[in-house]
Amino acid sequence: MSDKILKKDQAASFLAELAQKRDLHAPALAGGRLVWAPLEPGQEPLWQFNNTALSPKEFFFPQTECMMRFTNAQDHEEGMVMHSEPELARERALVNMRPCDAKAFGVLDLIFCQDEMTDDPYWRDKREKSLIIALACNDPCPTCFCTSMNCGPHSEAGADVLLIDLGDKLLAKGVSDQGEAAIAALPAATDDDLAAAAEAKQMAEAAIITTVEMDQINERGLMELYEAGHWDRTQESCLNCGTCTFCCPTCHCFDIQDETQGPAGRRVRNWDYCMSYLFTLHGSGHNPRGSKKDRVRQRFMHKFKYIPVKRGGEIGCVGCGRCVQLCPVNIDVREVVRDMNA
Ligand code: SF4
Ligand code: SF4
Repeated sequence: MSDKILKKDQAASFLAELAQKRDLHAPALAGGRLVWAPLEPGQEPLWQFNNTALSPKEFFFPQTECMMRFTNAQDHEEGMVMHSEPELARERALVNMRPCDAKAFGVLDLIFCQDEMTDDPYWRDKREKSLIIALACNDPCPTCFCTSMNCGPHSEAGADVLLIDLGDKLLAKGVSDQGEAAIAALPAATDDDLAAAAEAKQMAEAAIITTVEMDQINERGLMELYEAGHWDRTQESCLNCGTCTFCCPTCHCFDIQDETQGPAGRRVRNWDYCMSYLFTLHGSGHNPRGSKKDRVRQRFMHKFKYIPVKRGGEIGCVGCGRCVQLCPVNIDVREVVRDMNA
């Protein structure tokens, strides 16, 4: 894979070239909040910013997504007529994505496209039509713990191109074939550029002050962790509000509903969350996760035990720290993992 140089004062024209074929989106400030927004051709993206409040998972897994439309044509011999929804019309590039968010898409690929039986066409279509240009973090937040979660501030996982900020220029590393093609016309990096990028990586990793261990979680049996004593304490202050799940780049619970009006309707899937009592409520009235403790435990067991066991050691958390920042009652996932590990 090649290492190229993109001067910042030439970034806008580089992106304008990409925009001929793709819609561009990048983090931007709007109303004092950092959000993902369209990047107009010729506009320079932000180079210095913290994590966006919400993760970019919505580009692939929208909050509400129409899966198909249907018409109940009673006078039609076919009865119910189904119409598939159009796929993503135009390819896109997601620019300056944080490496933890790019890595999260690699985790979700394992969930949405596990095998032939579970191959989600909605997720896959958007993934295949998106170029992910990640921007390495040189200045991580105090709540970041990506280096403990199979990730890191300069992680390339899930990205097509990784940009590393070297002041007035960026080192552009081609990660995938698609990424290589996107940066093919840029000049090659020098040995000095590579040395500067290696130093930036070392400094960024050293700036992540939080570490959490998972050795005991990996070693201990599932039921031992499930029955551990700390869950009573962990669940105490949780409001089951779902903030942690909606901001999380790897949370992916959804519910499917049919909405009808007259003879026509649509089938939609909406974000849902395992912290909700209704999420697991059966039609019979039975709820297998009827208590708050059941639901809080599920969130953490899923991320740190069930996914690693079922997905070859991958973790259902990338250490972005969003839930630490946003939980209204200060439940800190790092503390929960430490409790599980202890
Ligand atoms: S954000 Fe905090 S209070 Fe809300 S569901 Fe998550 S852990 Fe519970
Ligand atoms: S669990 Fe929290 S820290 Fe981990 S990926 Fe989700 S939001 Fe980020």
